[in-house]
Amino acid sequence: MLKQQEKKTALYCRLSQEDKFGNNGGDSSSIQTQKVMLSKFAEENGLRNCEFYVDDGASGTTFEREDFQRMISDIEDGKVGCVITKDLSRLGRNYLEAGRYREMFTECGVRYIAMADGYDSTTDDGGDIATPIKEIIHEFYARDCSRKVKASYRTKAQNGGVVTGIPPYGYSRVAGEKNKLEVNPETAPTVQRMFQMALAGKSPHQIAKALMDDKTLTPKAYLDGTDKGNGETYNFTVKYPYKWGHTTVQAILTNPIYTGKIVCMKLANKSFKNKKKIARPQEDWIVTENAHEALVSQQDFDTIQERVKVKHRPPSEDNTPNKNVFRGMVFCNDCNRRLSYSGKRHLNGIFRCYGNIRYGNVECSSHYIRLENLLSLVLRDIQRHAGLAAESSAKYVKQLLRISESERQGEMATSKKEADKAHKRLTEIDTLIQKLYEDMTFGVITRERFMSMSANLEAEQAALKIRYDELTEYLESSVENARNAELFAELVRQYTDITELDSELVHTLIEKIVVHETEVVNGEKVKRVDIFYRFIGNIGGEVEIVQAA
Ligand SMILES: [Zn+2]
Repeated sequence: MLKQQEKKTALYCRLSQEDKFGNNGGDSSSIQTQKVMLSKFAEENGLRNCEFYVDDGASGTTFEREDFQRMISDIEDGKVGCVITKDLSRLGRNYLEAGRYREMFTECGVRYIAMADGYDSTTDDGGDIATPIKEIIHEFYARDCSRKVKASYRTKAQNGGVVTGIPPYGYSRVAGEKNKLEVNPETAPTVQRMFQMALAGKSPHQIAKALMDDKTLTPKAYLDGTDKGNGETYNFTVKYPYKWGHTTVQAILTNPIYTGKIVCMKLANKSFKNKKKIARPQEDWIVTENAHEALVSQQDFDTIQERVKVKHRPPSEDNTPNKNVFRGMVFCNDCNRRLSYSGKRHLNGIFRCYGNIRYGNVECSSHYIRLENLLSLVLRDIQRHAGLAAESSAKYVKQLLRISESERQGEMATSKKEADKAHKRLTEIDTLIQKLYEDMTFGVITRERFMSMSANLEAEQAALKIRYDELTEYLESSVENARNAELFAELVRQYTDITELDSELVHTLIEKIVVHETEVVNGEKVKRVDIFYRFIGNIGGEVEIVQAA
């Protein structure tokens, strides 16, 4: 038998199935690259007498692994001191097989290192990566590595491991599992009530006042004196235990944690070296769905978000209550700004485009509409839908689907084409970056050149990815349509007998209202108003005839 220092360091390279099919997401795993990477690693770690064992899989689908067999027999002959592969998956076609070989190496006293996985059999847990290995991984596998880091964060998030600090109001920690949230039966009903009120059109101010009137303890007052979970108790000085602020209400109503998800990685380090935090683009956030029980549905949560931003108008001077039941939901068709409501000069109030009020006619026209006109128009439309739904729910649902699908059909086909094109280009970019990377590794292009070229490609890739996700979401949404139509039919049929609109009803049924500018059609002044209902969106524009021209 040879002495340890005279033994060979076996550098084993092979193409995995993923590499062959090109699905490895821009990772550079060609045999050439593996060779360079492994020998560089061996050199920097003082591992000598290197020998390559290479299975390039060129022979076809059956993977003979001739060189692997040669390596195994060298190990059995005691010629090998250390085996290095790019990652654990190079060793076998699955984890079981790889595991068996790792055991065999241990029995033969062979050290085994899987670089990209940070595995080294000589360290105790096999999982801790020594610094020089880390550096090489960063240099060679920055892309792969960041994916893995992200994956580990995701696992942590799924285990609730990133929920730190005081549990959000409405939840408490699961006893024993300090990072997992469960519904707090004492405070959750308050949270649910807040979302219900917001959905019914109440402003954060109004919600805060209602909670105060009912003597509901504020989140801080509620926590005071309770167990921190580590034997200690919270100790705050709470002067006014029932004084809810509208900002507290707003913070709760806008926190996505109440939809059951955990959002993390909102902030990122600027780079490996610069630890200053910067805001991450939303598409990079790691969102863990169903991390805990939701207190509000995603649909309701989304509906509320736009409204919570609107400032509440106090009752007008003569103390008549605010008659605008459409608070925060009327928009201008041309500039997409909100229509402002003014109840002072006119008995029933008017809406005008905020762009027109603020910047004049150059920016946008008035889009003037009277509250009473909007009220009767919306009332008529709701009555019509309620009547149809009550008459025959099944027929009505069918009709809804026909309208929405026919409107979408052309758009669906175009979106499908665009999505396919985007997907093709995304794959192309991956290949291009991999090629560039290899060119840099072998000195065909400089590092600077690689950085600038790959940066451009990555920017294109990022933009394209956002668009692709949008398109996919849109294409998938048609499946949800049927269910939503049923939900809406169920909802609207309860309102067959209404004769008057109130804020709660309007906000329950309607998502937003879009007002067009008055046009003259066939000698008549007409104003189009689009009503976007919850669940089903806009189903046919409503035309209001103002007067004969
Ligand atoms: Zn406008």
